[in-house]
Amino acid sequence: MPREICPTEIDIIKLKRYEQLYRVTAKFHSSMDMAEVLKEIIHTLKEVYETFDCVLLLSHDTSTDPELPIHDLEYGSDSINQAAAQAYLTGNVQIEDSLINDKSVLYAPLKGKQGIYGVLQVTAPDTPIFPKEEVGFIELLANTAGGALENAQLYQQSRKLISDLQLINKTTHRLNSNLRLSDTINFMSEQIRASFDAQVIGFLMFNGKDQFEVLTGSSDYFFQDESVPLVHFINNKIKQEKDAVFIGDLSLDENIGEKKFRSLMVIPMIQSNALIGAVYVLNELPYHFSFDKFKLLQSLIHHSTLAFTNSMLREELERMVITDNLTKLHSRNYLDERIQLSMNTDALGAFLLIDIDDFKSINDTFGHQVGDEVIIQVANIIRKSIREHDVGARWGGEELAVYLPKADLKTGLMVAKRLVERVEIETNPKITISCGITVWHKENKDSVKKLFNRADEALYKAKQTGKNRVIIYDNYT
Ligand code: GH3
Ligand code: MG
Ligand code: MG
Repeated sequence: MPREICPTEIDIIKLKRYEQLYRVTAKFHSSMDMAEVLKEIIHTLKEVYETFDCVLLLSHDTSTDPELPIHDLEYGSDSINQAAAQAYLTGNVQIEDSLINDKSVLYAPLKGKQGIYGVLQVTAPDTPIFPKEEVGFIELLANTAGGALENAQLYQQSRKLISDLQLINKTTHRLNSNLRLSDTINFMSEQIRASFDAQVIGFLMFNGKDQFEVLTGSSDYFFQDESVPLVHFINNKIKQEKDAVFIGDLSLDENIGEKKFRSLMVIPMIQSNALIGAVYVLNELPYHFSFDKFKLLQSLIHHSTLAFTNSMLREELERMVITDNLTKLHSRNYLDERIQLSMNTDALGAFLLIDIDDFKSINDTFGHQVGDEVIIQVANIIRKSIREHDVGARWGGEELAVYLPKADLKTGLMVAKRLVERVEIETNPKITISCGITVWHKENKDSVKKLFNRADEALYKAKQTGKNRVIIYDNYT
């Protein structure tokens, strides 16, 4: 076949088109941004076919520039969209020629390797038959765009997957570092609040048939009466179905009776096949949590449950143990029991609550290990300064306590002053302590809790008035 040496005008146009196609392909491959790819498709079509009207009909809703002619594939339900649906379903180009309207429309599927992502709709005005010579080019462009959309979508999915995994990894890593239950809850709350845009978060533990406990660190809502109907309803559902609950609009179900919050995700905590609790996540706006987020939360809770139960068991164990591990003083639980026993049998007793002054700066300056050693030093001074039947205890953290059965205020004060003096002299690095003191007498109706509160109040005053001192609870001076 003889070949023309000189290209015709049509050939020049074709050449230009394919140059444009080449350029746009190169650009597609350099972009992993969905919005960018879509913009480029439309831009190229506008450049190539000035008079044609181009619309992208996408099967996934993609948040893009509202200025761009992008619609949902399901948009409307007239005959035009049936041809679009046909292109989408079959993966073949569809053409609608209309003699009556004097226009013709082409639908080219945006095909990738794994699926079809939408349909490119090109309307040629003023012609009842779509120009055949353009079909090949538009089809090619649509396929290129489909591939690019697929890449961008896969890339976005993989990025999301990575960030989801990072969240789970970070959370479980932290939780496995032997946190206390309260720290575990605070940490989980922080993560959930930030990653899921939750307004209130509740950690509920099931104990017994219809009973549950709201753990400290849960949002206030879960401690208030207003949450009772919702929590009751959802807890029942979880117990029956042993599955997570995802509700887009709580107000649609009158049985629930929830007024304030509308979006809900509740994930059960299951350990060795036993339902031990549930995590509640709520927001006032309806349909606020996406299904992806729900799946992510499920995964997060699933991975955290073991660490969570470990924290709880440890706390439980600590409650049962009578000696504090670090200081070898008695545990707080043991102290409680001893005071209660003394209140039942003795006529009076003195209680000292001690807090190390400015202990944070010891930790900050010398590190936690030295901090721990300082607590041990104070504990040893306490041990040396009290008698056999007295109880020296670790109240918690860097707070220690002493209970002197049968002791009056004078005796208590003497012991307290001795402790404050000795600590200042004997500790290294040098620290001081503050001490609140109170006593109980048989003739007054008293309780362990009241005793603690009074000592705590006195201790607070000792801190307020300059530290390194003993303050006696007012009413007993
Ligand atoms: P204040 O004089 O008001 O008591 O100041 P403070 O710095 O001692 O403040 P506060 O009592 O509120 O804080 C105590 C700090 O002690 C907080 C915590 O990080 C630290 N801490 C609590 N328990 C331990 C522990 O077992 N070991 C160590 N190293 N540090 C602890
Ligand atoms: Mg303290
Ligand atoms: Mg302190």
